[in-house]
Amino acid sequence: MNPKKQLLLIEDERNICNFIMTTLKSNGYKVISALNAETGLSLAASQCPDLILLDLGLPDMDGIEVIRKIRSWGNLPIIVISARTQEREKVEALDAGADDYITKPFGTSEMMARVRTALRRSTSGSGQRSSDQNRYIAGNLVIDYEKHIITIDGEIIHFTQIEYKILTYLSRNAGRVITYDSLISHVWGPFADSNNRILRVNMANIRRKLENNPADPQYIFTEIGIGYRMIDNENQ
Ligand code: CA
Repeated sequence: MNPKKQLLLIEDERNICNFIMTTLKSNGYKVISALNAETGLSLAASQCPDLILLDLGLPDMDGIEVIRKIRSWGNLPIIVISARTQEREKVEALDAGADDYITKPFGTSEMMARVRTALRRSTSGSGQRSSDQNRYIAGNLVIDYEKHIITIDGEIIHFTQIEYKILTYLSRNAGRVITYDSLISHVWGPFADSNNRILRVNMANIRRKLENNPADPQYIFTEIGIGYRMIDNENQ
């Protein structure tokens, strides 16, 4: 039996706080909570939670600042809860080191999916590399990282080197949103032009080869104004 994972929730609205806590507890997690950033930061340091759910709009400190403070000492997953619709804020949170975000109002199943993905990623990142991590599987798609082969329904699909790099990065981070800037700097290097036209061209080509209907993708989703999210790896 795995010991229960402990999650820390930092959220100043009591109603939302109670709702999230009830949901997480009924899904088998231990939850501690804070109604402001100061308490949240001290609980984060003293309790060493497995994951933090963080509201961006807190009374005593900007949520982005909370992320930076936590990232100065720890690598635990952080999921941002944002009521704000501005993409810029979400991108800023992701670039400051948040792993993912959910936008209020959100459904229970969406929140639980984000939590599971973030927890799994943090566990698989720390040691215990299985041979399974050499492959990404979703639906009919298989990416074999060792052999550099991508198949759909067992048939090899050819991708350019750039397309393969994009696919590898997204699939290694499957389930998680990757910002345009982080994808561009990963694929083309840190000094690449942050204009994402060339990324969009490559993504269109990837989707043409990958998706049954590129206008209604099954594997790689666009998060408008933010980046891309590849569907979760089933092979874990
Ligand atoms: Ca708030």
